[in-house]
Amino acid sequence: MAPKHLRLRQQIIETCLTMNRLGLNQGTSGNVSARNAEGFLLTPSGIAYETMKPGQIVQMDLESGYRGEWLPSSEWRMHSDIYAARPEAGAIVHVHSTYATALSCLRIDIPAFHYMIGVAGGTDLRCADYATFGTQALSDNMRAALTDRTACLLANHGQICFAPTLEKALWLAGEIEALCQQYWAAKQIGEPVLLDAEEMDRVLARFQTYGKQAKELEGLNVTAVDAPEWRGEVK
Ligand code: 13P
Ligand code: ZN
Repeated sequence: MAPKHLRLRQQIIETCLTMNRLGLNQGTSGNVSARNAEGFLLTPSGIAYETMKPGQIVQMDLESGYRGEWLPSSEWRMHSDIYAARPEAGAIVHVHSTYATALSCLRIDIPAFHYMIGVAGGTDLRCADYATFGTQALSDNMRAALTDRTACLLANHGQICFAPTLEKALWLAGEIEALCQQYWAAKQIGEPVLLDAEEMDRVLARFQTYGKQAKELEGLNVTAVDAPEWRGEVK
């Protein structure tokens, strides 16, 4: 019999395969989840994504419980705590992407060296304090680093981010990895000039509308696109 929420289970596996194919993760590292009516669906622990079947994705509730024969990801606490605290979170991606992981080993917050740092919701990308993988301490440290943010680094470990959908969460993980690679590259050749607080205010205001189309923007005065004159329908 097909498991309940089959399509969402398949989408989680597709997200895992894509994140490894894109080079955002390797092996059985990382984990992915998506919210549903009963709590959230989460990848099982230590199973290769290439062989993962929809029935192995674990149904969790928001009271630290799970159903079925497969053990959930060792990081179920991080996923559970994000869903409990952040109603806007519909999906979570945690990866050990190379540059984010390398920078996480320096245990520094990444400053506003590029305007895209605003993609995580603020003027920097924080690095959560170190704690052992799979512990409540790691989740607590992550929660603090995610205050007013949708992504953070995890010291000596990797990155975690959330978004309304699996597609957007995977996109965000890719943006975080690109930013970390760019910061690393800039640091090889000098000290990056940082954007100041006023500039980041402008950037964050524009980010509110980034990726939205004209009909969604009516009535807003700061938009990501200073739209040129509209000349009517396509001829
Ligand atoms: P799981 O296979 O248990 O999800 O662990 C991977 C991981 O990244 C732990 O931090
Ligand atoms: Zn991990």
